[in-house]
Amino acid sequence: MVLWGSCNISPSTILVTRSLRVTMVYIQDNLKLVFLTGLHVFGRLRKVNTGATSLIVARKGIFMGILVGREVFPDGILYASRDSHYSVFKAARMYRMDCVKVDCLVSGEIDCADFKVKLLANKDKPAIINVNIGTTVKGAVDDLDLVIQTLEESGFSQDRFYIHCDGALFGLMMPFVKRAPKVTFQKPIGSVSVSGHKFMGCPMPCGVQLTRMKHINVLSSNVEYLASRDATIMGSRNGHAPIFLWYTLNRKGYKGFQKEVQKCLRNAYYLKDRLRDAGH
Ligand SMILES: *Cc1c(COP(=O)(O)O)cnc(C)c1O
Repeated sequence: MVLWGSCNISPSTILVTRSLRVTMVYIQDNLKLVFLTGLHVFGRLRKVNTGATSLIVARKGIFMGILVGREVFPDGILYASRDSHYSVFKAARMYRMDCVKVDCLVSGEIDCADFKVKLLANKDKPAIINVNIGTTVKGAVDDLDLVIQTLEESGFSQDRFYIHCDGALFGLMMPFVKRAPKVTFQKPIGSVSVSGHKFMGCPMPCGVQLTRMKHINVLSSNVEYLASRDATIMGSRNGHAPIFLWYTLNRKGYKGFQKEVQKCLRNAYYLKDRLRDAGH
């Protein structure tokens, strides 16, 4: 195994690589390449994301995704279903954005009929949409295709909307779930985020954000003393987090993750059946 890392990582990161007994190769770039190596095991994930994408190591994927949306459409209105994570509404307050809450179906999915009514009431402003790939309480997955179709039917062309997919919870499970809606940059989405401290079990909060290269350029600025570009909100990030993620990805591998997802689903069905047997 070879770990790729930038030249300016901290001495303690090097210590961790030593204790993991991995070969370290230094490169003239920042840590995002560590992720590219890690994501290699996710053959299908890679195939799904064939658009011109870039990867940033981020904390609070929602904050990043919505910020990119607002930079692209400074006067855009943020739409999110009521079951969206509270960080979406926090981001709206932080960025002083108009935010419209959309109703949910019983399943917790976004109600596209209500979404359409609200879009039509605000036709003059671009739309920034948070699409949930697994809500926190019900695990609902919004129908991305229907969201896009609703936007188009309401007269929003692709240059008038930005979609952020919040995959914090299910992002890493979706590639292994049969008949799951496909989240791919072949569709008109702007970004996807996944948490590293949930399904992956990384001991410190961290996340991965995938977005299009053109959006990265909107956000980045040259940082002279780092000799690199910064496209994150916080600037400094935890250098160990990518290593933990990389280690988990490589240890479990594609098959390992697939097995774990299947086990989670089996357990969920088992619980549902037992609850039903008990008359609930
Ligand atoms: C946990 C969670 C978040 C927040 O992700 P962080 O990586 O902790 O910032 C966002 N959305 C959903 C659905 C979540 O479950």
